[in-house]
Amino acid sequence: MYDVLIVGGGPVGACAAALLARGTGGPGLSVALLEPKPPAPLAAGAALEARVVAVSRASERTLISAGAWPGILGPRLCAYERMRIWHESVSPTSAAALVFDAADVGEPNLGYIVENRLLQTALLEAFTRSGGHIEPAQLLRLRIGEAAVEVETTHGTFSARLIIGADGAQSAVREAAGLAAQVGTYGQTAIVATVATARSHEMTAWQRFMKAGTLAFLPLADGTSSIVWSADEELAPGLMAASDADFALELDRASDLALGATRLVSPRQSLPLRRLRAPRYVARRVALIGDAAHVVHPLAGQGVNLGLLDAAALADLVLAASAGGEDPGALGVLRRYERWRKSEVALMSAAIDGFDRFLAHGTGPLARLAQQGLSWVNNAPELRRLFIRRALGMSGELPRAAR
Ligand SMILES: Cc1cc2nc3c(=O)[nH]c(=O)nc-3n(C[C@H](O)[C@H](O)[C@H](O)COP(=O)(O)OP(=O)(O)OC[C@H]3O[C@@H](n4cnc5c(N)ncnc54)[C@H](O)[C@@H]3O)c2cc1C
Repeated sequence: MYDVLIVGGGPVGACAAALLARGTGGPGLSVALLEPKPPAPLAAGAALEARVVAVSRASERTLISAGAWPGILGPRLCAYERMRIWHESVSPTSAAALVFDAADVGEPNLGYIVENRLLQTALLEAFTRSGGHIEPAQLLRLRIGEAAVEVETTHGTFSARLIIGADGAQSAVREAAGLAAQVGTYGQTAIVATVATARSHEMTAWQRFMKAGTLAFLPLADGTSSIVWSADEELAPGLMAASDADFALELDRASDLALGATRLVSPRQSLPLRRLRAPRYVARRVALIGDAAHVVHPLAGQGVNLGLLDAAALADLVLAASAGGEDPGALGVLRRYERWRKSEVALMSAAIDGFDRFLAHGTGPLARLAQQGLSWVNNAPELRRLFIRRALGMSGELPRAAR
């Protein structure tokens, strides 16, 4: 019988597990984690992987609180100092391109580009170092009782006072607990790859909004860049089928040669993009975090960042409830988590969908207004600083681990 059982050891589940097992400012809880596919650690000197995420300052602080930062910090990590965002109707270097610079808010950088696998393994290691138990099992069934939840898995049966569903967009916990999900499509496929570029990335994340999607170049530590090309569904199959040389030519056209000519240095991966929103994040003794509760478009690089803050917020409330002698699985405790995070996530999802609808795909007066907005924000230092603080994740009510 555990205090908490977490289903899913992706970055979000592993972070919740490490925070709960360590305790923030008090003793930790007894925590087990189910992860059927734990990642193999990266060999020292291995080539950088194409699947990366941009983590914000709030996420960096959460990862420090979880004890995972020393495992991430090192030569594979790349800090990015600015973002350059432009619409296809203007050139990347024109005054109409929006530039967010960390120096504008007195920060050394806007965040870091981290490989997914490095993030996940560092968090899982931090969890086991804090005395947590990882079971390489898959959830089969849940039975929610008065005092505990019984969890049937491929490796036996466990029980816990609280189950956290961190098992991604296809969450089995969400379904077993009878929690609904509203799923929609963006009509786009993300193509991810690592590319070498003729010009330096200048520690900058570059993003171009186009009628047929968005294209981002995220800077990597070895001077290459990871691209995320969210291409309309009609365009994506052709881009995936093209030879490496033809794909690079298409990429040069789509990037307007912002970083000069490109060359592929990894295979391409394609991921269909969906949006997902669970109207309820909690039920008695069950809470959903990360992609199990919400999936957003990758254009703003916020999926993991939102999920890590879910993990930190839930850990705050559950640890406080436990320290006060309350049942950590009580619906009252979990509803506080839902109220806190649902409103923050709704705000961010609406902004992201607005960018996709008006900046990337839009036509007509509203789209023109949004495109014009990029240069207005660029010319309004106070407004620009406000957006930078949002991008750093340092706005809204922050959980203790992220402060
Ligand atoms: C192209 C692309 C680029 C992105 N870029 C960024 C970015 O720059 N910044 C950012 O913040 N976010 C980004 N994201 C979003 C980010 O990748 C996701 O939000 C993040 O991976 C969600 O983490 P998670 O731990 O909630 O879920 P997942 O990563 O999906 O992990 C779920 C885990 O649960 C396990 N699991 C599944 N089913 C079961 C079961 N039945 N029993 C037990 N375990 C189970 C799985 O094995 C998996 O390990 C991007 C997404 C895409 C597609």
